Amino acid sequence: MDMYFTINKAEKYIGDLKRYIFQAVRKIDCFRHASHDVQGAHAVDFDDSDWASFETGSTWGGRDQTHWFRTEVEIPASWKDAKVALFFTPGPGHAGGLSGAETLIYIDGVPTQGLDANHHEIHVLPEWKARGKIHVALKAFSGLQNVQRHFAAASLVMINEAAEDFYFRALTMLETIRILPEGDYDRERLVTFLNDAINAIDFRKPGSAIFYQSIAHANKALVERLSDYQSSESHRPLITAVGHSHIDVAWLWRLKHTREKSARTFSTVNHLIKQYPEYQFIQSQPQLYDYIKGDYPEIYEEIKANIKAGNWEVTGGMWVEPDCNVPSGESLVRQLLFGTRFMKKEFGVECSVLWLPDVFGYSWALPQILGKSGLKYFMTTKISWSQYNRPTYDTFMWRGLDGTEILTHFITTTESSKPQFYTYNGILNPASAKYSWDHYQQKEINDELLLAYGWGDGGGGPTKEMIEMGRRMQELPGIPKIEFGKVEPYFERLGQRVGGARRLPIVDGELYLEYHRGTYTSQARIKRANRKSEVLLHDVELLHSLALATLENHGYPQEDINENWKILLRNQFHDILPGSSITEVYQDAAEEFAALFTSAEGQEREVLQVLADEVDFDGQKLVVFNTLSWERGGRVTLPWSQELA
Ligand SMILES: [Zn+2]
Repeated sequence: MDMYFTINKAEKYIGDLKRYIFQAVRKIDCFRHASHDVQGAHAVDFDDSDWASFETGSTWGGRDQTHWFRTEVEIPASWKDAKVALFFTPGPGHAGGLSGAETLIYIDGVPTQGLDANHHEIHVLPEWKARGKIHVALKAFSGLQNVQRHFAAASLVMINEAAEDFYFRALTMLETIRILPEGDYDRERLVTFLNDAINAIDFRKPGSAIFYQSIAHANKALVERLSDYQSSESHRPLITAVGHSHIDVAWLWRLKHTREKSARTFSTVNHLIKQYPEYQFIQSQPQLYDYIKGDYPEIYEEIKANIKAGNWEVTGGMWVEPDCNVPSGESLVRQLLFGTRFMKKEFGVECSVLWLPDVFGYSWALPQILGKSGLKYFMTTKISWSQYNRPTYDTFMWRGLDGTEILTHFITTTESSKPQFYTYNGILNPASAKYSWDHYQQKEINDELLLAYGWGDGGGGPTKEMIEMGRRMQELPGIPKIEFGKVEPYFERLGQRVGGARRLPIVDGELYLEYHRGTYTSQARIKRANRKSEVLLHDVELLHSLALATLENHGYPQEDINENWKILLRNQFHDILPGSSITEVYQDAAEEFAALFTSAEGQEREVLQVLADEVDFDGQKLVVFNTLSWERGGRVTLPWSQELA
């Protein structure tokens, strides 16, 4: 058998087959359209009679615009037992969610799922089918490129389940074959199984009943053959795959865009969990949960339900994923204090893992701060981006300034046999499973890895395709075993496996990233505002504490102080404070810091007056406070006044 020819033939047929997964398509030709944001436009009974009509296939857009599209979709009664989906391409870009249009879809008034370059399909739930008719509203964001978007496709589709199942299985096999060396025992078996299965499909009349029947038979036979097959390897590494979406709180977009990105990404997760009960997702940043809680309470309630049900994991510890070079030690403590308190209060969760996949270097003070904050583990992958030196270890004890040790693990996810760096925006496929293991450096003490998969930076998250492929990978030999799982249990198992191991390395020092060095200096204004705020908030707390301890009935402005801390913590995000974001982000930050200064300086003036009034002195007095914990000298500057002369 000519292997090259066989594999290329398989690829061609799998590609052909993909076009027949949709067994029937009903096009949605027309929408009601508003070319600006409209409050309440998601509601079923909203009156859109004065909106323009919009034909599918037309264009819309511009820079930073929100458009609405509304319509009703009938679901044929004859489809009630079939797998049905909505399929939309409202005009996403192609660059991994960075320059695309992104859309939130509402079904019958409920925010249901995000649509973007990687998410087009919305699973139709049984209760929608039972209603026979659903109302669809699309809240479409045009993106930050000034381009027109082509609303290319809108339809209701009936999915042939056997064809879809066979497609994902065959594709996963093909991808596995491609990464295994020729002559490998498992590979040659997989080639035979795949070739036999494809040959059993009757391609004479694609789309006919006979065609679909032949797929169902071929698929059944293939499943049996795979489950009967004994792999040549009895021991294989295990990969725990967790869904994730790295969301930059601001970067090539502003805070206001992130609020919407979070809604789209989180609703997509919620909707995928309905289809895939084994799907697990981790999201770290309380700031994003807090946005959703205010903006989209329905999505937030569903997140809470999924946390309770065990599909949605909350860990990470900090309020945002902050820069860890510039903030003070106290700020890092507050990141953890605000982060862990929110997780406990809102979700009843005590978290054990610091989750900072994409932060540009890590202070030597962190292990001690983590230990004292009750966290036990640290995860990142960014250090692999270093320009010159690959980090020596992927699993190690990280020893801090005071000797505290924290079990640290770098994710080694890559789809490349010769990687330049590892990623936190992983794809779940045979290549990433195999190469993550191949490049991992502590194989002698650990044989289980963590893989975070899902589109990120600008959100999006895992796709149906990734989860389907993860399922099929569980059937296949030749690649690491795959399990869907969670981050914290992974780290607990890792700790048990490597704890006390003689060959578990220790790294004593800061984790320095040999890259992104401009982040120490660029956007100096925000770095100044950050430090000024840190000092100011310290003084406000110190002086109010002094007043509280020494005076009766002093009102400590806890809420206001917390709000100011949240502004500071938010702006320490790892693309804001380091200076790596677009101009508008710094305009927003300047406004936020101005509000912080106005508020905190007011609190400071107020308490200084209260304390000064208490100083017992006859005649004119001038009270000078020292907010440091040591004696100091120095000049005191006063406004000119005749009385002082
Ligand atoms: Zn990031």
